[in-house]
Amino acid sequence: MRYHPLAARLSVGLTALGLALTALAAPAARAAVCPAPSAAFISSAPATAARTVALTFDDGPGPFLPAVLKVLREYDVRATFFDTGAHDAAFPSLTRQIVSDGHLLADHSWDHLYPSQVAGGWTVGYLTDQISRTASQQQALTGQSPCFFRPPGGFTDNVLPTVQQLGMSAVLWSIDTLDWQQPGALSAASANSIVAAATNNGGAPHPIVLMHDAKASHEANSVVSPFRGNTVAALPRIIAAYRAAGFQFVDLNGGSGLRGHNTDFSGDQLGDVLATRPDGSLWAYRGNGANGWQGWAPVGSGWQIADAMFAAGDFAGDGHPAVLYRRKDDGSLWMWPTDGAGGWGATRSIGGGWNACSALFSPGDFDGDGHPDVMCLRRDDGSLWLYPGDGAGGWRPWFQIGHGFAGYERIVSPGDFDGDGYPDVLAVAPNGALWLFSGNGSGGFRSQRQVGSGWQGFSALLSAGDFTGEGFPDLLALRSDGSLWDYAGNFTGGWTGWSQVGSGWSGTPLVTGVG
Ligand SMILES: [Zn+2]
Repeated sequence: MRYHPLAARLSVGLTALGLALTALAAPAARAAVCPAPSAAFISSAPATAARTVALTFDDGPGPFLPAVLKVLREYDVRATFFDTGAHDAAFPSLTRQIVSDGHLLADHSWDHLYPSQVAGGWTVGYLTDQISRTASQQQALTGQSPCFFRPPGGFTDNVLPTVQQLGMSAVLWSIDTLDWQQPGALSAASANSIVAAATNNGGAPHPIVLMHDAKASHEANSVVSPFRGNTVAALPRIIAAYRAAGFQFVDLNGGSGLRGHNTDFSGDQLGDVLATRPDGSLWAYRGNGANGWQGWAPVGSGWQIADAMFAAGDFAGDGHPAVLYRRKDDGSLWMWPTDGAGGWGATRSIGGGWNACSALFSPGDFDGDGHPDVMCLRRDDGSLWLYPGDGAGGWRPWFQIGHGFAGYERIVSPGDFDGDGYPDVLAVAPNGALWLFSGNGSGGFRSQRQVGSGWQGFSALLSAGDFTGEGFPDLLALRSDGSLWDYAGNFTGGWTGWSQVGSGWSGTPLVTGVG
């Protein structure tokens, strides 16, 4: 890894900038809107298509979760995670990442004790305490309360009356991969047996597949291994087999695919960069998911008419990222949806007067309504405004979210940078300090802190999601000498490292990351 001379001056520290934020709304605490509780145990995936399959991961989160999430992100597969409350409490960032990646979080009790391990067995009172404590923990960490409970070990004692009383549904499975029985080391035979079990659906059109991303049972590690590398190794082949058989991957709500903010331009789930050249051509630089490039190709022309361009997640609501751009001549903002495979839909105007903004970018879903939004830094008074997207290429009422941002021309969102489950904003102050403004998930900021200095040497900031493939969102920075640098985020608001990932980028008037 080559280090950047400026980056060597990166430092963390707090500097009073007199940068005030407007009144904050209460922390996001959305009550779950659960489907009507099921009268029986659920053991088949929602039938939202002719063939659907629900991948479920129990007993986490734990150290193997990032590897599982990385595979699901790469293949755009939405899954359901039955976590124990004890593990959620032990791994809060990982718990939040499940939700910020777009998966469904569900309840697997707090202690993962079987009826025989509890004095008096599973009474309604015992289960109510286990399930609701876990639900409260998940709500506190992610703002969302679970709707589904899976009993540890699949025991059914008193489960249905308890979950119904809580407004939840109980979930079992139709396919047990027995991945928890696999040995504590990578083994081709083990991965093969997980693949064979997971894909042996006996012709059922809506299987629920049981897998594990951690260990919550109480046997000693020498008896049951906590190693889940074989599950991770099996996962791409399980996904490929179901895709080849025409299955759609769904969570237990029937949701499919990961949220638009996590999707890229070329459709391979690896972050990309779009950049214009002085001749007006638009180029797509396809990331390889490992801090480099697969290649680049022209994907448009005539972009001289634009003086701002940024990716805005699934702004159009069609399941693919949209690119927004501003026309130089009249300040109108236009939406150009992509087709999710490196091509384009039809462009259309989505409003006028946007030349009032000195900087424009999308923070993803900043207000927590499920749809990506746009931020505008007003040129005249340095105020920052949120324009919430309505999920269909239009707007909900906009409002001011900050002031004192005059001179913060380089401002961008890398998604959830500090691992609290909500998208954040990074901005370079006129003195070169890089500031992290942590989003609160409901359209405001919860805090701000300095996460670097010396950033005045960069002409543009962008984010292509997880460019390095480490599992966490990164920041890409373009120096005025045309070199492009990746600053790898550590998911707690800091950096794991930085390296040069390109040169010759000075002839790119407009540049944005998609991923
Ligand atoms: Zn379990």
